[in-house]
Amino acid sequence: MRIVVFGAGVVGITAAWYLASDGHEVTVVDRQPGPGLETSLANGGQISAAHAAPWANPRIPLTLLKWLGRADAPLLFRPRMDWRQWRWAMQFLIECLPSRTVSNTIQCMNLALYSRDCLKALRATTGIEYDQLTRGILEFHFDAKGFADAAKAAERMSQYGGDREAKTADECVAIEPALETCRDRLVGGIFTAGDESGDAHRFTRELARLAAARGVAFRWGTTLESLVTDGIAVRGARCWTAIDPEHRGRESIDTDVYVIALGSSSPLLLAPIGVPVRIYPVKGYSATIAVGSHRGAPRVSLSDPERKLVFSRLGDRLRVAGTAELSGYGRALDHVRCAALIARTFELFPDAGEREGAQFWAGLRPATPSNVPLVGATRYRNLFLDTGHGSLGWTMACGSGRALADLIAGRKPEVDFAFTRA
Ligand SMILES: Cc1cc2nc3c(=O)[nH]c(=O)nc-3n(C[C@H](O)[C@H](O)[C@H](O)COP(=O)(O)OP(=O)(O)OC[C@H]3O[C@@H](n4cnc5c(N)ncnc54)[C@H](O)[C@@H]3O)c2cc1C
Repeated sequence: MRIVVFGAGVVGITAAWYLASDGHEVTVVDRQPGPGLETSLANGGQISAAHAAPWANPRIPLTLLKWLGRADAPLLFRPRMDWRQWRWAMQFLIECLPSRTVSNTIQCMNLALYSRDCLKALRATTGIEYDQLTRGILEFHFDAKGFADAAKAAERMSQYGGDREAKTADECVAIEPALETCRDRLVGGIFTAGDESGDAHRFTRELARLAAARGVAFRWGTTLESLVTDGIAVRGARCWTAIDPEHRGRESIDTDVYVIALGSSSPLLLAPIGVPVRIYPVKGYSATIAVGSHRGAPRVSLSDPERKLVFSRLGDRLRVAGTAELSGYGRALDHVRCAALIARTFELFPDAGEREGAQFWAGLRPATPSNVPLVGATRYRNLFLDTGHGSLGWTMACGSGRALADLIAGRKPEVDFAFTRA
């Protein structure tokens, strides 16, 4: 079949890879001049399958209230005159109900663990390199109550397949010696030995290159403006091409199957054709620090639940990323939030790297209120979704792409997940 994947982020590129592996004639369309240039550009770098719990949980509403109005708060709601933002926020609160949290956790864990296996298999068959480290992820705690709660949660999560192990402070330092600098405050940690880290953008670029070698075509600088339907199927995609002289201007792309992997833009293209998807951008920040000759940067990927930050070593760089802001589609950098990333990094790891030259970035997580992504069919027989991966897009990309290829081929996916049908 001829299949067009709209969106060349980590999700779209992995979907294209698995679809091409099935022998389809695949084209990827993106408004950017290359792969992975929006939210997949500078994320936290974690393949955090065993940590794949949804943000919406019974403790979050109180935490949000506590942080309300603080410009450097790890989670921030900036109210706007946008009904989509308010509707998303209300639905998010509903997803915080205990019963919803349990079912969302099972969905996220199933897909994330499957995805981690798919990534390992992909690495084994292609030899793809992306500064990957398979040293696990360690969530460290300075607060005794927070650690006790996390240890209890770890026990509960083991029933869903998450290999989370509680560790003492000394064990944490043995796993990541860079934590010695804050040993006196450390009360313990939760270690997920099977989790991984790496550079999501390098992965996306490399996989796009491998996909091109497998016959996937790319249309860069091409913006999807609207989808045309006849009520049963999609009949064309109206696009605008800016940079490619061969295709410059407006055109309609017609194909057999359309896949939407447009990240935060997905609802803007789907709502007009009556496919309502509850996705809203949740802005996050990262700083990338050159390690240089400094010796204090961690190598094991770390999570700092107190500040909602993650640290990943990407070769000779240290990436610190996190914080969440519900503030619309703007990507402008807020200097208070950038400064908070750096301050926390060097408070924990004083010799982490070149403090002055840090590179800052902000990206929009395509978040559903439940954290469960939208993968599968729609009411149109030739339109499929692979979007809404929120804070776990790279963690879930391979599993989503692989399962989507199964669904399109009429095979039963190997993962127990609530695929879309609407
Ligand atoms: C600070 C931060 C830290 C994060 N850390 C992690 C982490 O450690 N681990 C993890 O798993 N996930 C993490 N994430 C989440 C992860 O980065 C995202 O879930 C993932 O990048 C989403 O990928 P995507 O392909 O769906 O979206 P994107 O990468 O945004 O791709 C969508 C693509 O669609 C294109 N597009 C949009 N509209 C149009 C249009 N109209 N026409 C044509 N093209 C269009 C865009 O150009 C873009 O290339 C983090 C996110 C942030 C912000």
